Amino acid sequence: MKILISNDDGYLAPGIIALADALAPIADIVVVAPDSNRSACSNSLTLDRPLSFYQAANGFYFVNGTSSDCVHVALTGILTEKPDLVVSGINQGQNMGDDTLYSGTVAAATEAYLFGIPAIAFSQADKGWAELDSAARIAKEIVQRRFDTLPRPFLLNVNIPNLPYDRLGRIVSTRLGKRHQSEGVIRMQDPNGREIYWIGAAGPAKDAGEGTDFHAVVSGNVSITPLQIDLTHTAQLASLKKELE
Ligand code: MN
Repeated sequence: MKILISNDDGYLAPGIIALADALAPIADIVVVAPDSNRSACSNSLTLDRPLSFYQAANGFYFVNGTSSDCVHVALTGILTEKPDLVVSGINQGQNMGDDTLYSGTVAAATEAYLFGIPAIAFSQADKGWAELDSAARIAKEIVQRRFDTLPRPFLLNVNIPNLPYDRLGRIVSTRLGKRHQSEGVIRMQDPNGREIYWIGAAGPAKDAGEGTDFHAVVSGNVSITPLQIDLTHTAQLASLKKELE
């Protein structure tokens, strides 16, 4: 099996190194990741300047772009063969509910999915890299499942609680929950006295009921949500059509 690995935390992040180490014994891996932390870059592509790539001493390729850039450039430029699977992560911090729209980790997987390649995004629920070995072991197990009954391509979003391997619960299928509105900006002054803003934290979980990713992870389970990209609000189509008549 040929696996392309990317992330949004950058090629030096402990999460991508752990993921590559876990998958190297079971697959031919190539790592193409951003040169720096691009968390929350969403699906953005860089169109206002060219992209270049370099190879680090450990064999990882790094690109001066976003996570979507990395997968795009890898699939259409760097790689000579199409991978069987693209994995992203392991991200430092959860990507659940509305996070998936902002996440560069999910975006790397999405880019592969848009090219018709099955893809899995992996995130650790809590920041700080605690229990990363456990998360990498679970990621390997999930990759080995192959998901033969799912139609190709699939796009899976995995969130892993930061727990030792023997304290992790089950691997469960979930739907995305929803968050409350984000907290407001944090106002500060720059050294010249000008007002500046930091984007504030994401809101807490709002829909975290049974069946959601939030509920699974808080219960100690590994959450897998199958994602799709079509944003059409199908239920509103009929109303809109009537409005326009
Ligand atoms: Mn990240």
